[in-house]
Amino acid sequence: MLYQGDCGRCGRKVRTDENYLKAHLWASTAVFHWSCFTTLMKEHGEQAAEDAAWKASRVTREQ
Ligand SMILES: [Zn+2]
Repeated sequence: MLYQGDCGRCGRKVRTDENYLKAHLWASTAVFHWSCFTTLMKEHGEQAAEDAAWKASRVTREQ
């Protein structure tokens, strides 16, 4: 398994042995557990998912 980064919704580590989604936004990459991403879309819609991905990619860059 390979560590992919922290989930943009729950903040836990995402590994390649889980279902996950990698999003490319603003020339950055963010990852979500697949279940987290679908929950985010149901709760808040596409814009919230993009915002979360953007924040996650910022956190990754700053570390
Ligand atoms: Zn998650």
